[in-house]
Amino acid sequence: MISARYREIGARMENLQKAIPEHIQQIGWSVKKLIPGQNSFMFELKKGFFEKAVIKVRGTPQDVYVEVDGQQGLMDIVEQALANSCDNPAAIVGWKMQAEQRAMELAKASAAITQPPSAPAPTPTPAPKPPAPKLEACMHCTAPLTYDPEEVLVICNYCGYVNNTTGEQPPRYSMLPVVVDGSKAMELAKDHVAKGILVTRGMAERAEWGSIVLRYVPNWAVTVQLKGDVEGKRALIKTKDAKGQVAQEVAIQALGGALGSIFGGAGKGAGKALGDRTERMSISETIDVSIVARKSAEFQPDAGAYKIPLDKKEPFRKTGEETLNVEISDQAAAERAKSLALQELRSRYTFVSRFNVGAYPFDDSELIYSPWWFIEYRMGGKSFSVIIDACNGSVIAGQRPWLPKETTKGR
Ligand SMILES: [Zn+2]
Repeated sequence: MISARYREIGARMENLQKAIPEHIQQIGWSVKKLIPGQNSFMFELKKGFFEKAVIKVRGTPQDVYVEVDGQQGLMDIVEQALANSCDNPAAIVGWKMQAEQRAMELAKASAAITQPPSAPAPTPTPAPKPPAPKLEACMHCTAPLTYDPEEVLVICNYCGYVNNTTGEQPPRYSMLPVVVDGSKAMELAKDHVAKGILVTRGMAERAEWGSIVLRYVPNWAVTVQLKGDVEGKRALIKTKDAKGQVAQEVAIQALGGALGSIFGGAGKGAGKALGDRTERMSISETIDVSIVARKSAEFQPDAGAYKIPLDKKEPFRKTGEETLNVEISDQAAAERAKSLALQELRSRYTFVSRFNVGAYPFDDSELIYSPWWFIEYRMGGKSFSVIIDACNGSVIAGQRPWLPKETTKGR
């Protein structure tokens, strides 16, 4: 597999999606299947009877990641399509050059590892890879770094660079802008609380509204590809809890019974046919999943409540607001994303007799620092909190009995 990453080229992703099929046709390939998408898309290609290839593209105009599973000529042609679909083709560093650079870095890194300062006892077997030493200075400006042992990606307090504490290259990262100000967020929080069971707008207004703080919370944006087949009953509406599923089963059976009696005679049979109807679906799609890169529960969104507004992404810069560091690695996030993507798919069915689906996360998860408002309120003598996305105003968590504490770390 060949991969390359193109930065600061101002790619037009939509044009690229159209340009790739036109370009590959010129060298005899055709598109067998396209999985389209705004931030990521994938082509399955064929040439003649036997040759197959896959092209995956994902990212943003200023940071495009391309993966080609197939012959090298295809990567060349994709690069051409990219050059024809971007604002700044001069900034393209060719994939061959990128591969060379990577190889050189790898050689340097392994040379450093194979020369221990004073080896006490040489290990006879080629050990996998010693645990990398923890980083002490910023890789960009060399300022000293302080961080909790849990944290794996740390923002430099001086220059804002995101350091990987293993000393390796950081992942792709960006941030979301603050669009919703504090007073607007407060309004949204009150609206949300007023919608709660047994709470009126008046009660929400009269609640004691306490502190409001803004935090940038790191989220991993993971794209998971699902492939396989499912045999079962499609849900009328998506449902994630067993109770809802049962309610739907009953509703479908009741509907079946009603139809049966309308059409007369076949009462039971028709009900059964409709109630038991299963279908086999072949699954091939990608799902975008976001994983909060913090371990503590106070930052976890309500199930299914949060979708990163990826369309508003901006390059990362240091702000005056407190930005939380990453505690969950991209690999751990990818594992979690796999099961969430499978859950999402499963929730479209009320009943499943066969679920044979593989989940494959793309290996270039992106880190997105998202600004969230944490708002505290007291009602009936208890204290709760609401989390509001400061970028698009959505409610991330509704009624939380805690609020993140101000950390002691410097800004
Ligand atoms: Zn720095």
